[in-house]
Amino acid sequence: MSIHALHLNVRPVRAFSDNYIWLIESTTVPGEVVAVDPGEAEPVVADLKRRNLHLAAILLTHHHPDHIGGVPELQRLEKIPVIGPDDPRIAHRTRTVKDLERCELPDLGLSFEILQVPGHTVSHIALWGHGALFCGDTLFSAGCGRMFEGTPRQMNDSLNRLRDLPPETHVFCGHEYTAANLRFALEVEPGNRAALEYQERVTRLRSQGEPTLPSTLGLESLVNPFLRCDKPIVRAAAEKRAGKKLDQPAEVFGVLRAWKDQFR
Ligand code: ZN
Ligand code: FE
Repeated sequence: MSIHALHLNVRPVRAFSDNYIWLIESTTVPGEVVAVDPGEAEPVVADLKRRNLHLAAILLTHHHPDHIGGVPELQRLEKIPVIGPDDPRIAHRTRTVKDLERCELPDLGLSFEILQVPGHTVSHIALWGHGALFCGDTLFSAGCGRMFEGTPRQMNDSLNRLRDLPPETHVFCGHEYTAANLRFALEVEPGNRAALEYQERVTRLRSQGEPTLPSTLGLESLVNPFLRCDKPIVRAAAEKRAGKKLDQPAEVFGVLRAWKDQFR
């Protein structure tokens, strides 16, 4: 998979059991970084210290503790901008961003378009720019987040918005769930060649302790059943599971999501 489309240095910091905090390097000032979804402060502080980097801002996709838990501690160390969606559950936010707004960090040479993507939570946002997509718990590689606060139609619309970005877009998700997601993807589409090939690669990466991310939207459109609700083969699998005809992709999505919730 070529990575030429990514115009950004991004590195994962691991947190909890399977979270990724993404550190984005400034394109203009060496050593300055932005953290996406710091659920924990300690691993970020340790990483910055080890590499002699400075945290200049924090970007948040949604209010869940495993994504914002480290913010108070990081802010206590230094007052830096904390940018996130309009949600009272994100108490330490210093700047609010809305759908289709640009999130500009001119001093750092960074600029992202905000996409409101309700479903996992009502106020969830994704950030898109420099060939990268930071999508929190909305889109995972080969899967998607649980639907805690949205309807199937909302979440399906949100995923379609992300899917319709350029296929070379690199996808930086909030969790390392790819291997388990692929097992479900292959339950839905046992004959999906791209998913089978990807599974080999993912197994190899995980056995070496390497992240499977970033993915690309082009790959996701081939392997991720939740982005394929309009494909006849995925609809047929969902109809078989539901025992009835499903007319709308959003209905297919609803069946897949409920199926995945039960899948072990
Ligand atoms: Zn979450
Ligand atoms: Fe999460």
